[in-house]
Amino acid sequence: MVPLLDLKAQYEQLKQPINEALLRVAASQACILGPEVEQLERELAEYLHVRHAIGVSSGTDALLIALMALGIGAGDEVIVPTFSFFATAGCVSRLGGLPVFVDVDPNSFNINPQAVRGAITSRTKAILPVHLFGQAADMKALMDIHNETGIPIVEDAAQAIGTQTSDGARVGSIGMIGCFSFYPTKNLGAMGDGGLVTTNDDKLAERMMRLRNHGMEPRYYHSMVGGNFRLDAIQAAVLRVKLPQLPAWHQARRRNADTYNKLFVEHGLSTDMSRGFDSDNTVLTPAVVTDRSVGDYHIFNQYTIQSRNRDTLRTFLHKNGIGTEIYYPVPLHRQECFTNLKSSHSSFPIADSLCSTVLSLPIYPELAAHQIENVVETVAEFERTPRPAL
Ligand SMILES: *Cc1c(COP(=O)(O)O)cnc(C)c1O
Repeated sequence: MVPLLDLKAQYEQLKQPINEALLRVAASQACILGPEVEQLERELAEYLHVRHAIGVSSGTDALLIALMALGIGAGDEVIVPTFSFFATAGCVSRLGGLPVFVDVDPNSFNINPQAVRGAITSRTKAILPVHLFGQAADMKALMDIHNETGIPIVEDAAQAIGTQTSDGARVGSIGMIGCFSFYPTKNLGAMGDGGLVTTNDDKLAERMMRLRNHGMEPRYYHSMVGGNFRLDAIQAAVLRVKLPQLPAWHQARRRNADTYNKLFVEHGLSTDMSRGFDSDNTVLTPAVVTDRSVGDYHIFNQYTIQSRNRDTLRTFLHKNGIGTEIYYPVPLHRQECFTNLKSSHSSFPIADSLCSTVLSLPIYPELAAHQIENVVETVAEFERTPRPAL
């Protein structure tokens, strides 16, 4: 059995300090925001190389607050990649804005900066790149666009806490605002929901602090309409135990990715994704487009291969006790709730093709080498099994 993710293995490692942290919060009964959250915010600001880190209720709410702080509202356009988790576009619509979808790069799966340029109109109020699966989007090209047009960039770094760009900058510290998630499947996961917004801008930080608590300052005086987007102390206390482990966990995920890459090549099953499918290789392994001389260039929140027989491969792996997931089966522009959007009717061939070929394999830090071998050998066995031509 190789599960997609094993959160119990991580808890076992840290059981004692996590239990102590939980009891510390229980004894204090300071349950919402408070000293644990403030301490976590200081530690995360330092780790992420930003002036302000503000704990919030989820990654989704982080995106919502970021767009609220920038004043995104009715009719405003926000450019988003069509290959992402729903929240990236959902938060735009929730504010009355219009998500404008663009296609992604076939190697990194991240937003295509050239396509972003083509999508800009006089109503474009923000660009929302996603650092998908733990690899940085092309922030250099995107910041060039920002510098030419003044359009703010909000980074969806939900899957990429600690990821560095080829310039060595931490994602979430480059655009106007960074958004992070502590959903349990992310590299830094809480014991429930949680999120973070980051910025180097003092005014935006002040607005976001206020927005997370009903726009209230001072108590019971509301200069703007916010919401209840507060982080609770139990989540903060757990995250403070886990944060020091994060660099080692990133290391372990990278080592697992290297092991997969090596074994897939040894089995004659793959080439690097950047070379595309050819007749000999049936599986494409992830392309790392960031400069490898940088430390945390890819934190492998997901290790995502491509196969032209993805669905039958997935069924075969499941029958053999191997957990996988499809991130994502449907591009955002094809979601039913977005069919009324003008930009849904453009063509996005890369995202469409990825949605029919991508498959994420187990990559969590506690995964053993023999489990990775088991996964690759099972893929190899699938490839040896005769089946009707496509
Ligand atoms: C997880 C995720 C979110 C949302 O985070 P939650 O904490 O689950 O609300 C947003 N964007 C991306 C790309 C994500 O992976």
